[in-house]
Amino acid sequence: MVDSYSLPGWAWLLIFILALIGLINIYLAIKGESEEPEFKSYVEDLMHGANWRWSWTGNQISNVWCFCPRCDATLVYDDSFCRTFGQINKTDFICENCNCTVVASISGGDKDYATGAVKREISRRVRTGEYKKH
Ligand SMILES: [Zn+2]
Repeated sequence: MVDSYSLPGWAWLLIFILALIGLINIYLAIKGESEEPEFKSYVEDLMHGANWRWSWTGNQISNVWCFCPRCDATLVYDDSFCRTFGQINKTDFICENCNCTVVASISGGDKDYATGAVKREISRRVRTGEYKKH
């Protein structure tokens, strides 16, 4: 019992260093968790003529939708073109508040395709760092 109170100096130093390393690890773990990646503050951008907004769930883009750049109304979509065989595949995004003007038109597919295309564009701008220019 007495021996444990009279540890040599180097042993105390070793314990001190180990404790310090432990504290640094805990500090880094907390810091890493609380610090969000920079791109998570990127939640809106102008694409295809409309103002798109979304949120981040982990590193995934979710709830992506577009708004009118003039009056900020939520746009409604019209992908009826995609249901008609032989027509051009495109989805129009319309602002009801601005005399039903077609604000954005994304060709290539229906509403899901259009939001998918926007998600891909967001990911691309994040990857290339282009989003920082906004
Ligand atoms: Zn509008």
